[in-house]
Amino acid sequence: MAETIIVVGHKNPDNDAICAAVGYAYLKNQLARKAAGAGEPEAVYKPVRLGPLPPETAWVLQSQGVEEPELIERVEPGQKVVLVDHNELLQAVDGIEEADIVEVVDHHRIGGLSTANPIQFINLPIGSSSTVASLLYRYGGYELPANIAAVMLSSLMTDTVLLKSPTTTQIDRDQAEWLAGIAGVEALEFGRQVIKSRGSGADLPVEKLVAADAKEFQVGDDVVFIAQRETVDSAAVMEREDEMRAYMKQVVADNGYRSFLLLVTDIIEEGSRFICEGDCSLIDKAFGIEVDVPGGVWMPGVLSRKKQAAPPILALA
Ligand code: MG
Ligand code: MG
Ligand code: MG
Repeated sequence: MAETIIVVGHKNPDNDAICAAVGYAYLKNQLARKAAGAGEPEAVYKPVRLGPLPPETAWVLQSQGVEEPELIERVEPGQKVVLVDHNELLQAVDGIEEADIVEVVDHHRIGGLSTANPIQFINLPIGSSSTVASLLYRYGGYELPANIAAVMLSSLMTDTVLLKSPTTTQIDRDQAEWLAGIAGVEALEFGRQVIKSRGSGADLPVEKLVAADAKEFQVGDDVVFIAQRETVDSAAVMEREDEMRAYMKQVVADNGYRSFLLLVTDIIEEGSRFICEGDCSLIDKAFGIEVDVPGGVWMPGVLSRKKQAAPPILALA
């Protein structure tokens, strides 16, 4: 019997957490079959997810005829796991401490992971985990079906906010063109379709509006929760400010967070509105602002949690 190896993105999955898992699992299964020759592969790589499908992910998987990764809650002790789009245990599947991390494919800061055995750990400071996975296809010369290329292109485009985020590199632009050629689409046009399929978000239930893409960050003894709502219409989202703040207060109280920072990122206006609940002094200090005001603070040019919002806060630890 082939062993099942789980390929999993972070909690509160965004499009990249799921699409990179799908793309990388497809590659690993191809390699496992090649290694087995005429025999049975030793391992089957299974992409899974830790939360609901974001609307754009549902759209892209459905329109490309790719099966939805199964939703899981935790992993069993000893389960072999490939982490994609994260490497911090705080963001990983429950049970990870007792699991066996066999690989990491990521594009984030390194956050304190250690393993018993040597592992393949591929982390590049580029725009998306799907870009990282696509490089492995490209330079390995492996077979990449059009629909898997489209799935990976979708999250290259969402993670880089249509190649506009400061996380975007020349490698991302090159890989976007390469993936688009295989998928048979125009890269930016396809990216816009993906973003449109997400809607403004303004009609979502408040917990999804605010925290569908949220991550915990350890800052000294405190945990700061940073969520990002990317939207094509931040004014529509901000009409629900009171309701969002009430929800954020509740999350802070329930989880004992130091603060909850929400970035309402407007893809069209190219900036983010910072909304904060809890003790926001760390945020004020990190950015030299007074964030605790009605309407929050507009931060022009801030599109990336990873590169622009989180580092100044983490630097205070
Ligand atoms: Mg992600
Ligand atoms: Mg990512
Ligand atoms: Mg992201």
